[in-house]
Amino acid sequence: MTDFTMEKGADGVAVITWDVPGKSMNVMSMEAWPVLEDLVDDALADDAVKGIVITSGKEGSFAGGMDLNVIAKMKEMAGDNPAQGLMDGLMNMHSILRKIERGGMDDKNKGGKPIAAALPGTALGIGLEIPLACHRIFAADNPKAKIGLPEIMVGIFPGAGGTTRLVRKLGAMGASPLLLEGKLNDPKKAKTAGVVDEVVPADELIAKAKEWVLSEPSFVKPWDEKGYKMPGGAPYHPAGFMTFVGASAMVNGKTQGAFPAAKALLSAVYEGALVPFDTALKIEARWFTNVLMNPSSSAMIRSLFINKEALEKGANRPDVPEQTVKKVGVMGAGMMGAGIALVSAMAGMQVVLIDQKQDAADKGKSYTADYMDKGIKRGKATEEKKENTLDLITATTDYAALEGCDLVIEAVFEDPGVKAEVTKKVLEVVGDDCIFATNTSTLPITELAKASDKPEQFIGIHFFSPVEKMMLVEIIKGKETGPRAVAKALDYVRQIKKTPIAVNDARFFYCNRCIIPYINEGIRMVAEGVAPALIDNAARQLGFPVGPLQLVDETSIDLGAKIARATKEAMGDDYPDAAVDEVIFWMEGEGRLGRKANAGFFDYDEKGKRQGYWAGLEEKYPHAEEQPDLIAVQHRLMFAQVLEAVRALEEGVLEDIREGDVGAILAWGFAPWSGGPFSWLDIIGSPYAAERCDQLTEAHGARFTCPDLLREMAEKNQSFYRRFGNEAQAA
Ligand code: NAD
Repeated sequence: MTDFTMEKGADGVAVITWDVPGKSMNVMSMEAWPVLEDLVDDALADDAVKGIVITSGKEGSFAGGMDLNVIAKMKEMAGDNPAQGLMDGLMNMHSILRKIERGGMDDKNKGGKPIAAALPGTALGIGLEIPLACHRIFAADNPKAKIGLPEIMVGIFPGAGGTTRLVRKLGAMGASPLLLEGKLNDPKKAKTAGVVDEVVPADELIAKAKEWVLSEPSFVKPWDEKGYKMPGGAPYHPAGFMTFVGASAMVNGKTQGAFPAAKALLSAVYEGALVPFDTALKIEARWFTNVLMNPSSSAMIRSLFINKEALEKGANRPDVPEQTVKKVGVMGAGMMGAGIALVSAMAGMQVVLIDQKQDAADKGKSYTADYMDKGIKRGKATEEKKENTLDLITATTDYAALEGCDLVIEAVFEDPGVKAEVTKKVLEVVGDDCIFATNTSTLPITELAKASDKPEQFIGIHFFSPVEKMMLVEIIKGKETGPRAVAKALDYVRQIKKTPIAVNDARFFYCNRCIIPYINEGIRMVAEGVAPALIDNAARQLGFPVGPLQLVDETSIDLGAKIARATKEAMGDDYPDAAVDEVIFWMEGEGRLGRKANAGFFDYDEKGKRQGYWAGLEEKYPHAEEQPDLIAVQHRLMFAQVLEAVRALEEGVLEDIREGDVGAILAWGFAPWSGGPFSWLDIIGSPYAAERCDQLTEAHGARFTCPDLLREMAEKNQSFYRRFGNEAQAA
């Protein structure tokens, strides 16, 4: 069985069908390219064949793209001179696609055979790049299908001619959002955007494609005709020039220059637009080689695709029978409880949403109604879907309604006394099997579990705010949490279509443990006289969505002050953050509580729009005459976080570095281009990391002390993925 097969019909059409054995969706492998090429050669050489249709044997999809496991390993597979090996491999792929695109025509565009792509549905990445090389793209009218080039989302760009062809087909302006944002469309929208040529009823797909190839169409690609002009103008045309100026500004504004693939893509588009088509393909291949040679691309693919998916599929799930949740109780209908009820009902679960007063419970439920209304306005939901979702939520004050719940998640006030009382009351009404979870962000799970007589059925399920937007859920195992509770939490997270990490109980668990030092390092620098703009921009240029000072404003200064007081009380003399508290407590005293007070590190206008940094800050902490350089600030911010991640691993809070990397990117936007804290340390290398720790310790204090684990790894020149990961994933 091969991935591509061909059937030549009596009607003169050769139908090449892509159907990878054993997969629900086609993905391209290295071995499949020559098979496709042989079939195309055969059909082009056969006089009985008048035209070719390339389609898929999978219902509802053409292809999901290149096998990303292969892309992540391409560099290693490319031999002793990997850059040359990659370039040769890419040029070979281009020659096969170019053969399809030329369809056997001679230099004068004479002869040849038309080739149509017939897409039954989803066509992503290489699954769209092959059709783009064909002469006409037919897509079945399947509204669930997604068509596009999402490569940029995992740190690469379309490198099988997709970049060059889409820019020539749509112009730089039309192609840019599809390439730079990885935007996917359903078939009808893909037609409006000009990506596909025809949308036809699913049961007529092959017939329509055949009809077209037999209609003796002219099929020379515009860019193979003399006098071709790019839609919207090439870079030196006044209109094209403006597009490129705008696109460069947009990319740099959005990525702050932190994502190598976005820069490389833009270069391939710009430089490719200046030269003839075949040279443009070569330029695209050079930039693609450049991206694949950059460790960022394999780290991003590893974390954002391969390992994220592995965690979602239960890589660390205990071997316990299916624990699908049918009825969930949500205690507390505040900001978090309302969001938890929403995502649970959206996943089809029955939800009992409880608060102290009926109007509070109702208000929590109305959050779902508002959310669905917004969806209806944007065409993403229907009245019917709204009604069905709301029907699943019972908002009440009556604990008896919890009967039959197999999972209860508590999101009441962050107070151990209140939480203990709620836990006890819930356990009186639910069945013996019910798993009880707390959404606490700071209280130790093992302590809270004491309120239950079944601590093996007690667990932390820590959501991030806003619940419906944030993709990560951190599951926390208390000392006595049993495997069924872990499986239940993981199955629940799978039901609500989010990504789980499961960590052991310790102060601030994993995510907040790393985020707090990031924020604190930023605040410390303010006290030292570092310009706030330098601090926040240094973070943004590392790819963080918001700098540390802006982040405190978003989460609120008083929350920071509350956490600082509680931590200080718990740690006593060991408490290391007095310098941070000085700033935080002073800001709190000044009423600068952050965005919610319209006053924090930033000033805000009456509509809540962020203005510049608050002048009072500089009055209190004047800027030092000599400012540190950008890299020095960035290293402080990065090391503050990654050393905490290493300590969490060393202490057994983290059991799997994949969770540390995926969790960091999804929970707080840790420099996604790096693949996460452990991937970043692997990129810079453990010996250099240990050396930097020593320098930072000397310059800034003991919080940068190199953890023993990292020191030992530095001595052996080890990487995290080699030592703790799957050997095959080590860079
Ligand atoms: P909130 O103040 O918005 O909501 C708490 C709700 O619990 C209120 O509606 C309150 O009336 C209700 N409540 C209090 N006591 C109750 C009782 N005895 N029975 C029933 N309902 C009761 O708070 P929130 O921001 O939603 O946080 C809730 C929990 O989630 C806290 O433990 C918090 O640490 C945690 N958390 C918050 C965030 C966040 O960003 N806000 C993120 C992760 C976790």
